[in-house]
Parts: sequence; C-alpha cells; structure tokens
Amino acid sequence: MRQADAVVVGAGPNGLVAALTLARAGLAVDVYEAADVPGGGCRTAELTVPGFRHDICSAVHPLLVASPAFADIDLAAHGVRLLTPSTAFAHPLDGGRAVCVGHDVDEVAASLGADGAAYARIFSPLVRDVDKILPAFLGSMRTVPAHPLKAAAFGLHGLSTAQDMARKFHTEEGRALVAGTAAHSMLPLTAPLSGVFPRLFIALAHRFGWPVVEGGSAAVVDALVAELTTLGGRVETGRLVKRLNELPPSRTIVLDVTPRQLLEMAGGTVPRRYGRALRRYRYGPGVCKVDWALSGPVLWSAEGCRQAVTVHVGGTFAEIARGEADVNAGRHPDHPYCLVTQPCIVDPTRAPAGGHTLWAYCHVPNGSDVDMTERIEAQIERFAPGFRDLVLGRSTCTAVDEEMHNPSYVGGDINAGAATLRQMVFRPAVQWNPYRTALDGVYLCSAATPPGGGVHGMCGVGAAHAALRDLGRHGADSPEP
Ligand SMILES: Cc1cc2nc3c(=O)[nH]c(=O)nc-3n(C[C@H](O)[C@H](O)[C@H](O)COP(=O)(O)OP(=O)(O)OC[C@H]3O[C@@H](n4cnc5c(N)ncnc54)[C@H](O)[C@@H]3O)c2cc1C
Repeated sequence: MRQADAVVVGAGPNGLVAALTLARAGLAVDVYEAADVPGGGCRTAELTVPGFRHDICSAVHPLLVASPAFADIDLAAHGVRLLTPSTAFAHPLDGGRAVCVGHDVDEVAASLGADGAAYARIFSPLVRDVDKILPAFLGSMRTVPAHPLKAAAFGLHGLSTAQDMARKFHTEEGRALVAGTAAHSMLPLTAPLSGVFPRLFIALAHRFGWPVVEGGSAAVVDALVAELTTLGGRVETGRLVKRLNELPPSRTIVLDVTPRQLLEMAGGTVPRRYGRALRRYRYGPGVCKVDWALSGPVLWSAEGCRQAVTVHVGGTFAEIARGEADVNAGRHPDHPYCLVTQPCIVDPTRAPAGGHTLWAYCHVPNGSDVDMTERIEAQIERFAPGFRDLVLGRSTCTAVDEEMHNPSYVGGDINAGAATLRQMVFRPAVQWNPYRTALDGVYLCSAATPPGGGVHGMCGVGAAHAALRDLGRHGADSPEP
C-alpha cells in the first residue's frame, strides 16, 4: 500500500486533468469518484434502446480542441478520433430557412445577404486573431496576456450584450445566429457578457470546427484515465466523499466540486470570510435534457440542418430572448430554446445500421423538476415535421435528476455557476489565486473556477499548478494558465 501525495475528489475532465498534471510532476495521485464510472460531464451510455450510445452530458468539443490542456495529451494515441462536421452548427427558421456556419467566413457572409458585410467585418479579424486571444480567456484570467491589446479589445466587446450585437444585423437570419450562440451562456440576452458568447463560439467554429468524439465523449475520459494509470495514478469509482476528514492523509487535496459542496465537505472548518464568499456564489439556470433513439436521421425542412451536428432550435432572436428571459425570471418557457445535437451525421458508430441518436436540452429555472420533453419535441417538430414518427425510445433527465447524477450540477446548473460578469472573473470568490481555498493544502479545480464550464481541462491545470507551487514543485510540463 502506498500513500498518495495528492488526492483528487471527482473524476470529471478537470479532476482528471488536475490528477494528470500532478502525476506528471512526479506525485503519487489517487482519484475518488462518486459515480460508478469516471468522466462526470464527459460520459457515454446506452440510455434508450440497446445499441444506441448517447453522450450523457457533453457532446460537442470546440473547447477541447482549442485548449492548451489537451494540446500535450496525445488523444489519438489512445484511439480517440475527433470527427468534425462540415457545418459546425445550423439555426433553422420558419419557412424552411436556416443559417449555417461552416469553416469559411466568406461563405457564411455570402449566405447572409444584407448582413454579409457586418458578419465579415466582425468575424474575419476575430478568426484571424483567435489563437492570440484565446489563451487569455482559457486560463486563470490572472496573467498578463501575450497579446494584451487584442485580448483587451475582445474583452471590451464581451462586456456588451447579445442584444447590442444583434443590432449590427438586420436580417432574421443574422439576428438568430447571435441569439442561438449567445443563449449557450444561459444569461438573459440583455445581460453583460452575453455578447461574448457569439463571438467566441462562432470564432471557434471557423477556426477549429465543432467536433464530436467517435463512439462518444467517454473516449476522452478513457484516454485521460489510461494516461494517468501509466504514471502510477489510480481512480477509485463508487466512492462519494462526504467529508474532507474521511480522506486518507496526503499533502494535497484537489476538489472537482463547487462551492456549496466544499462548504459541506469542510464541515464548518472554512474560515469565516472565505465561507461567506462561497455562500454568496450564485448558480445559474438548470437544464432538462432528452435523448432519443431514432429509426433514421431527422428530416429538417431546411436542407442545411441535415449536415450540421449541432442545431440551435428556437426560432427568431425575439423568441429566444423571451425564452431565456423567462428562465432567468424563474419561469418555464412554452417555446424553449433547445440545443440539439445529431452526432450520427458524422459518427455512424453511435447506433445500429440506419439508426440515429439525438441529444437535446433546454434551459429551466435552477432546481426545476419539470419534464420539458413535450415542449422540446414540439420545437423540433416545428422545424422537422415528422420527427416524432422516428422515435424508437427516449430518456429524459430533469434539472433535479441532473444533480442526482452529478452533485456538481447544483440545481441542474451544468456550468457549476452562473456566467455573470463578476463570476466569470472572480470564480468562486474575489481572490488572486482562484484555485487555492482558505484551507491549507486544499484546492478547487471544478468549472466553478476560471475559465468556467466546458470540457477544456484548464481549471484542472490551474489548480494543479497552484498546488505544485505551494509544494515547491515547479516544472510541471503542462501549460501555465
Ligand atoms: C447536459 C450537458 C451538456 C453539456 N454539453 C457540453 C458540450 O457539448 N461541450 C462542453 O464542452 N461542455 C458541455 N457540458 C459541460 C461540461 O460537461 C462541464 O462543464 C464539464 O464536465 C466540467 O468538468 P468538471 O471536471 O469541472 O466537472 P464534472 O464533469 O461535473 O465532474 C465532477 C465529478 O466529480 C464527482 N463528484 C462530485 N462530488 C463528489 C464527491 N463528493 N465525491 C466524489 N466525487 C464527486 C462527480 O460525480 C463528477 O464525476 C455539458 C454538461 C451537461 C450536463
């Protein structure tokens, strides 16, 4: 029996990347995971009909391909194949219309008619500079950016709202494009920062595409676990850690949990000021998610949607803005904005021959137990008549269920905290190093730290570096966030 130098609680992507970073620095690392399989928001399972494999949480991975944390992990060597559709995402509108975003900025601009010039004006320079801008935002947000002027310009635009950005467009298509990408934030489209999401996600679509993982997102986690195991790290599943004092002795504890769980796990030992800050931490809306096994592909009225893995379903800017405002005011929209993915467009391995899987979620108030299946299906049916006839099986997960499957999704908030202006920078509290807690040797590595939600692993890198610095161990061979 060896004693671990570091214990990581939670085997989500951030927990595993933190474990890997610590193991690479020579530490003996043990990971404890509550669920029966590792992966957290990056798992795949047969949720509906045998032979149909669904991503339980994350499905689409532009952040992973853009992330410095994954740049030095040889996923391909572990058999991970990223499949990138020619159309990153599409947004259908009534009357069989759709706006589609693929690799080429000029092509999208040309398809937008009267809004083409505005689109090119915003996205041509952004896509050209995205490699210089991204590192400043995919990290701790505490280091001086390598390209400060470009990062500052992007940050300033980010303070604007999606509504401000939509004013630059005059067609229904151009404005819908802004709404569909801004709504990923779960913010009202009138909130500061909601304008940064269209810029970020559309730039990522042009620069990297929006890929899925062949066979399902779990393959990424299998690769992380395999790499960790090679370095002597261990992952124990089925182990819910309720209190920090039940952990075996180690020099470092890294927690892939959110502030509310940290407070519970610490059992009153958190210093008062830090505890107060953690209690003030705000969670965002939840999600209600549905997975379907289908007998064939969804026949969207707009041809362009049939080539896209991701489809933003919700109609016009005004409709999506109204729905997201409802959710943020504690109401369930009748016509919700739905994020839909159809991975079989590029990955036939997810279903038996001819079959397709479909994945969708809509936003709901935090803590909701309302089943939104009917309303989500009605929205899809609106743009793809006959959709319901394809359904062989379905599985629904309300916001309350989300938290039952993963305690880090408090109230069904899949981003581990609201994306407000304050919390995007000062996540989880106002402090210089966001990964260090006020407890000696205890660090947070979840999406409740910068840069926030998504499968990018950078919260894990940040926490591991803070821990290594405190242990006097520099020189971990992964990027400093
Ligand atoms: C429905 C849905 C769709 C999403 N879609 C995308 C997408 O397409 N692309 C994308 O980039 N991101 C997506 N995300 C977000 C992404 O999955 C998360 O942001 C990401 O997984 C966060 O990683 P993490 O390691 O911080 O936390 P998590 O992945 O949540 O992992 C935390 C882990 O810690 C474990 N844990 C928590 N408490 C304890 C405890 N006390 N003891 C032991 N173990 C514990 C949990 O069981 C879990 O395994 C989606 C999430 C959901 C739910």
